[in-house]
Amino acid sequence: MHCSYKIKLLLLLGLIPICLPATNLDSLVRSINETDKVELEEIASNLLSVGKIQLKQKNHNAALKSFTKVIEYTHRSSLHAEAYFQIGKTYQKLEQHKLALENYLETLRPQLIQHHKNIAQVYTPIANSYLALGEYEKAYDYQIRVLEIAENNGVLKQQGKVLYEIGTIFYYQDKFPEALTYYKKSLVLCEQLKNNQLISTCLGAMGSCYGQLGEIEQSLHYNQRYLALAQQVNYQPGIAYGLHNIASNYVSQTKYGIAMQTLERSLSLKKELNDKWGMISGLELIAEIYTNQHQLDLALTTLDKALAIALEINAKPRLQDLHKAYVDIYSIKGDYKKAYQHLKSHIDIKDSIINAESLEEMADRKSRYEIHKRETEILSLKKDKTLLEKDQQIDLLYKISFGIIIFLLAVIIGIFYNRYRLQRQNFDLLEDKNEQIRLKNEALQQANANQLEITHLLAEKNELLNHHNAQIEKSNQRLSAMNLELQHFTSVASHDLKEPLRMIGSYTSILKRRYIKNLDVSAQEFMGYITDATARMQALLDDLLSYSRAGSQRMEMEQVDLNDTLTIVHANLHHQLLDAGATLKVYNENLPAIQGSSTQMIQLFQNLVSNGVKFSGERKPVVQIKCTEQARTHLIQIKDNGIGIPLEYQDKIFEMFQRLHNHNEYEGTGIGLATCKKIVERHAGKIWVDSIVGQGSTFNIELPKLAA
Ligand code: ADP
Repeated sequence: MHCSYKIKLLLLLGLIPICLPATNLDSLVRSINETDKVELEEIASNLLSVGKIQLKQKNHNAALKSFTKVIEYTHRSSLHAEAYFQIGKTYQKLEQHKLALENYLETLRPQLIQHHKNIAQVYTPIANSYLALGEYEKAYDYQIRVLEIAENNGVLKQQGKVLYEIGTIFYYQDKFPEALTYYKKSLVLCEQLKNNQLISTCLGAMGSCYGQLGEIEQSLHYNQRYLALAQQVNYQPGIAYGLHNIASNYVSQTKYGIAMQTLERSLSLKKELNDKWGMISGLELIAEIYTNQHQLDLALTTLDKALAIALEINAKPRLQDLHKAYVDIYSIKGDYKKAYQHLKSHIDIKDSIINAESLEEMADRKSRYEIHKRETEILSLKKDKTLLEKDQQIDLLYKISFGIIIFLLAVIIGIFYNRYRLQRQNFDLLEDKNEQIRLKNEALQQANANQLEITHLLAEKNELLNHHNAQIEKSNQRLSAMNLELQHFTSVASHDLKEPLRMIGSYTSILKRRYIKNLDVSAQEFMGYITDATARMQALLDDLLSYSRAGSQRMEMEQVDLNDTLTIVHANLHHQLLDAGATLKVYNENLPAIQGSSTQMIQLFQNLVSNGVKFSGERKPVVQIKCTEQARTHLIQIKDNGIGIPLEYQDKIFEMFQRLHNHNEYEGTGIGLATCKKIVERHAGKIWVDSIVGQGSTFNIELPKLAA
């Protein structure tokens, strides 16, 4: 317990890496042997942190010890995984790639692999270790794994890096076109990401490729871009390699002076950076320049320097190249034995790095990767297709939904529109009706106004009528009074005149009887006129009197049997009928009875039958009486075969003193039919005549039937 606090404290102060040598640490760790497991884990965890700091400080051995203790003091797999990884990293820094690889591979053990948050971070150093060891196929395999992960995760930076690394694997195998392809792919990605460091690395690599392919101009172009960019971002390794590559281009162009200057700049930078691989390649190139300049000893010395470094770090690919360079120089020198020895070394190394099997395996892995990639692409295409189909389905669904929505909207709009239209129609109809009602109201009001006006007018007219009626009434009253007066006068006059007339008549007849013989012919003629006038005057007075009586006399209303009436009439007219040789025919056996005055009925029928006989003309008079029962009345017709009455006089003949003939033709007073009319009217009946001149006349009388 006590000790762990100590460690914590020291860690907190950041003093351990500075103050504690490894031995002290060992004793510290040993002193806590008795602590329990949890505490050990805590210590291990702290040791891990310590180791990382030591590694940063390039205190590689101390770091290795710290990481190794972590593995010793705990069984926690997560700590083991991290410790092995850090050990691998430390060995890599120490260019001990085999050990580095072993430790990296430890972390891929089933118990440990799960603790890597990002497995690609382990695969990448593994691939680099294999590359360093010249196991290109495995390096390639692990880079492909990283590429897959990066592609799956869509991490472009990592993809760019991996593509570059794969290019380098091909480059190391002198497969420059393939390498160039990967570098270009990487460059495209890096340019997208605007990652200057990676861009410069790619540009440099591409420059090297073009150089190797003999395309010096192209190579120089890329190398210069590479150098410019590296200088721009002040990327020291980039500057070193840029200079190296440009120098290499100059060598190709046999510009050895400038090439050498450039190389010296590059080499000094690499030394500063402790870039041993870079130093080897730089020295190699210097050796090449010396060789080309036939300064073979200088070339060999330079190669020896390079070989020493290559052996130090076991940089197999470099060793292979260096041996080849030795072969060339010794061959030129004619020292074939040494040339052979180096050639053998060169071949041995080459064989150990690349053999047919490994190449085949690489090709196989490459094709597997390509197939896998294609499958992935197809799968993603399928996914895309499925997605596309799903999208299409969704699109279709959207369209259908949209269609349905549109349709529903259309239906709703339609309904609303219809409603609106119906409402509008109803409204219009209502308006029409209202208009009609309004018009009707107006008309009604107008009518009312008219009615009012009419009523008003009617009232006025009524008033006028009443006034008139009153006047008429007054007139009637006056008339009645006058009539009465007239009737009275007529009656009185007729009556009173009859007496003196009778006197005249009597004395005229005495005169005639006594003195006729004494009178001459003229006087006798005059006497005849007087007698005649007197008789006519008498008849006139009689008629006037009877007319007057018909209108004024109080009527004794009784049931009058017309059979009796006609029997009396027949008897009264017996002589006249006989004299005229007339025939009186009554068609009905039983004539009806009426309510009225018996005297006046006799007077009525006697006048009419008498007229029928009188106006017979040349023919023997035939008078026919016919009675027809009607709904409310009896129609009695007195028909003769006489001279007839012209149409224009058929009404006039019922007026007083209207005669169509003079006395010489037919005797009469012109009062008879006026009296008949008065009698019929007093019995609430009607009288008229139908006649054809020369054929006869029919007098029609309508009298009310007796009440049932
Ligand atoms: P009167 O017979 O005394 O002349 P009425 O009043 O009876 O007077 O008749 C009026 C006139 O009507 C007659 O003068 C005659 O010209 C005409 N009249 C009347 N009855 C007949 C008839 N049956 N046929 C032709 N003319 C007639």
